[in-house]
Amino acid sequence: MMDLESTPNLRLRVSQKAESILRSGHPWLFSDSIREQNRTGRTGDLAVIYDREDRFLGMGLFDPEGPIRVRMLHVGKPQKLDHAWWQQHLTTTLDRRRNLFDPQTNGYRLCNGENDGWPGLVLDRYDSTLVLKIYTAAWIPRLEEIVGIIGEQVPCERIILRLSRNIQDKSQPFIEGQIVRGKPLLDPVTFLESGLRFEIDVVRGQKTGFFLDQRDNRRLVESLSHGRRVLNAFSFSGGFSLYAARGGAVSVTDLDISPHALAAANRNFALNLDQPAVSHCHHEIVKADAFDWLDSAPPASFDLIILDPPSLAKRESEREQAIGAYGRLTRSAIKLLQPGGILVACSCSAHVSTEEFLGSVREAATQSGRLFTELQTTAHPADHPATFPEAHYLKAIYLGF
Ligand code: SAH
Repeated sequence: MMDLESTPNLRLRVSQKAESILRSGHPWLFSDSIREQNRTGRTGDLAVIYDREDRFLGMGLFDPEGPIRVRMLHVGKPQKLDHAWWQQHLTTTLDRRRNLFDPQTNGYRLCNGENDGWPGLVLDRYDSTLVLKIYTAAWIPRLEEIVGIIGEQVPCERIILRLSRNIQDKSQPFIEGQIVRGKPLLDPVTFLESGLRFEIDVVRGQKTGFFLDQRDNRRLVESLSHGRRVLNAFSFSGGFSLYAARGGAVSVTDLDISPHALAAANRNFALNLDQPAVSHCHHEIVKADAFDWLDSAPPASFDLIILDPPSLAKRESEREQAIGAYGRLTRSAIKLLQPGGILVACSCSAHVSTEEFLGSVREAATQSGRLFTELQTTAHPADHPATFPEAHYLKAIYLGF
């Protein structure tokens, strides 16, 4: 492991514009904003940033690769980022979640990256298993210390490490899916969300195993589902469907292209059959490309449709195409809705703004020629705060026809 303390501090001076952006609390310093650097920086070096008057501006984690060169940890007065600082930093983060959930929800996000002051680091709790996901190799030299602090402050049986794909070859001595603390995993991990039980794959599953960010939308869907035939398009492991079933849906159809996702949806239904409404609800799975299937299904066959596709714009250049795709999905789904039906359209594309997404869905709804009412729009839940413009990826709109 690299010795972080043996070389002089990495010191940077940045453009005037970057100074004010950082002072305003934005967590990223881009490589093209750096004006002076006292030495070559290594992955995970603590970079100290000084302003034009040579005053301390802030500190962050240096990453020599990729456009984001420094991810900010602290801005303001000079501060020593020692062990006690990291301990207090985690305590503050955990305090933000205190009392957000009752024991019926033991799966939620404990730390949401930049938005909690931990740039590129996410920590999710699934009952007694924690999943730590790292999106930049700049954390690797500090990981042992961070894992130790998490273990001290969050009671748990184990901590699993997940690494974003782009850093999996830069993570030595750590590897993707490793148990970095605690007991081995003998059984699949299960947890409770709003009293529903879900089984998840914390080692290989998408994100950290579950889309915790959609909890509030799932709760709303439960409240709208009574007596309805529900289509859950891009269902993943059936999260929305279980809520719809418990809310009294007559039937729910999980539509996904992945057989693994649909198998997980079946298992999750089986795990909740002790709930009478779930056992009375007819559950079907359909393995298909949702874009094609929505175009060919019989009109008016559903009373509530959820569209929750994966990110349709992974980069800025895909933005226009994604906006078009949201419109297309909306048009197809409206045709499948019975009069009186409800459409829940979601987007998790960070490159598509809230205005662009809502605009595209509203335009498609208007073009359908059907009368509709806008019931609600939603954004991030409390355990997924978004504190800077690029962080607002999640948006949803509810339309009644
Ligand atoms: N709504 C889910 C999360 C959806 S994630 C929840 O609340 O948990 C997106 C899902 O879309 C993934 O399961 C992925 O397999 C699926 N998917 C991706 N492309 C698809 C396509 N073209 N057609 C159908 N499903 C697709």
